[in-house]
Amino acid sequence: MTYDAVIIGSGINGLAAAVHLAIKGWRVAVVERNAVPGGAVRTAEVTLPGFRHDLYATNLDAFMGSAFFARHDALLRKHGFAVVTSEHAFASAFEDGSWLGIDTNGEATAKRLGEENAADERRWRELAAAFPTAAPHLFALLAAPVPSWRAANVVWRAWREQGTAFLGEMADLFVASSRDWLDRRFESPKLKAMMAAWGTHLDCAPDTAGGALFPYIECFAQHANGLPMGKGGIDTVTKAMTGALEAHGGTLLTNAAATSVIVADGRATGVRLADGSALTARRAVIANVHPRHLYKSLVAGDVRDSRAERAANLRPGAGSMMIHLALNDQPDWRDPALKAFAYVHLAPSLSAMSRAYAEWAEGLLPAEPLVVVSQPTAVDPTRAPDGKHVLWVMARPLPAAIAGDAGGTIAARDWPSVKEPCAERVLDTIERYAPGLRGKILRRSVHSPADLERSNPNLIGGDTNAGSYHLDQSFVLRPAFGLTRYATPIKSLYNVGASIWPGSGTGAGSGYLCARMLAGQ
Ligand SMILES: Cc1cc2nc3c(=O)[nH]c(=O)nc-3n(C[C@H](O)[C@H](O)[C@H](O)COP(=O)(O)OP(=O)(O)OC[C@H]3O[C@@H](n4cnc5c(N)ncnc54)[C@H](O)[C@@H]3O)c2cc1C
Repeated sequence: MTYDAVIIGSGINGLAAAVHLAIKGWRVAVVERNAVPGGAVRTAEVTLPGFRHDLYATNLDAFMGSAFFARHDALLRKHGFAVVTSEHAFASAFEDGSWLGIDTNGEATAKRLGEENAADERRWRELAAAFPTAAPHLFALLAAPVPSWRAANVVWRAWREQGTAFLGEMADLFVASSRDWLDRRFESPKLKAMMAAWGTHLDCAPDTAGGALFPYIECFAQHANGLPMGKGGIDTVTKAMTGALEAHGGTLLTNAAATSVIVADGRATGVRLADGSALTARRAVIANVHPRHLYKSLVAGDVRDSRAERAANLRPGAGSMMIHLALNDQPDWRDPALKAFAYVHLAPSLSAMSRAYAEWAEGLLPAEPLVVVSQPTAVDPTRAPDGKHVLWVMARPLPAAIAGDAGGTIAARDWPSVKEPCAERVLDTIERYAPGLRGKILRRSVHSPADLERSNPNLIGGDTNAGSYHLDQSFVLRPAFGLTRYATPIKSLYNVGASIWPGSGTGAGSGYLCARMLAGQ
């Protein structure tokens, strides 16, 4: 079969590219190795019938704020996309039974922070008041291709409209570690821990340079907008995208693994599948795959280029484990107020986070993993039978290759043997904050870092971001200098996905920007 574009992988970036190109009149095919599309955006009943678990991503704030969604909002809603938003966005629970949390009620949030520290309340109010001014510039920069005149123009406009001091504040955000940024502004160790916990989602420990940006964005964006989730499951996104694709003549082939990109005279002309068949691409092959698999497998032998070599060696970040629980009741947090929050972080101090990352860096299972507990049924009761609940639990930082156990109790060194004891350690951690959780579990489904990679080869070592987000792999260096704008050293071959700037998350940035570039907007 002949298409204008063949897209390898139906992750959110591959689908965004496919939908946009199909709308622009391109004949598009997406090939997906799995039986179900979506990559890290999937919902499934992995515990019991009627319990719908977001297997990987669950928070849709990046999607709701994306340029792709802004452009295709009406079309996606027509194809069934629906969202529910929690006004009680996130909280951190602490060992002493207290907690701090952020919701969309400005007064309630500020007063709560003020009970901890009056100076912090004032500072929080100032930052929250300034966020609507900063946000349009920040989001415009993060949505622009880099390097580009468009990105330069965003910076120039920010300077012209807000002045030099504003630009200095923004530059600080992009390079500071979360500890340095927070220490300069706040006093309460709990407030600092609550904000810095967001850095760990992008593989940034408290002392990682550049780690301040994500906590700032997540905290103030969710304070302003709440935390959005897909109604009924995050697969509302993929179902709407595949529906829109097919309505515009696009084709989605599942159980169709690409084994190579066909290259003739230095140009990509098609894709070969595992069953031996081939699809011809007249204008573009778009690979929604990690550069390691693109350059070391799909086009191995066709490229000799130092940029491709650097991209292929994009360093994975720390691994994660996912535990999905079907519950007969919500967890009994030591303070029941936590039942309302969409996310509860169990990362009680900057030192606890630093310690876990130091252990991970030595290849050790951390003695105290950092845990994110999401409570989807607190936001959307339709995800479980009446009165029942699902819990989404992520634990990190976990090593891909296990050198030892900082906790001193797990002897095995391979993930198939380690995953259950490691899950027990994670449940022990939650029990300290929500005693009796184990007694509420109807069924559980545990996914180790190795399982994550098996389900999606882009998640190397269970790295949820398909490449660490440290500064040497961000912006113009993601995945390599000269390859940030989707092109590859092979003509007509493009690379999109979490490994390509603007990178990870449900924002579909690289897929949409690549499609706009190809379609001429
Ligand atoms: C556990 C977890 C939790 C997360 N939580 C959040 C969250 O709450 N909010 C958020 O914004 N982000 C979150 N993320 C990050 C976000 O989900 C991902 O960054 C994003 O979905 C990645 O999209 P992608 O376009 O890179 O494609 P991927 O999701 O990596 O999908 C790529 C697809 O390509 C397919 N594929 C690969 N190779 C081939 C081949 N050779 N042939 C055919 N098909 C192939 C794969 O099977 C897969 O379906 C999370 C990620 C994980 C793993």
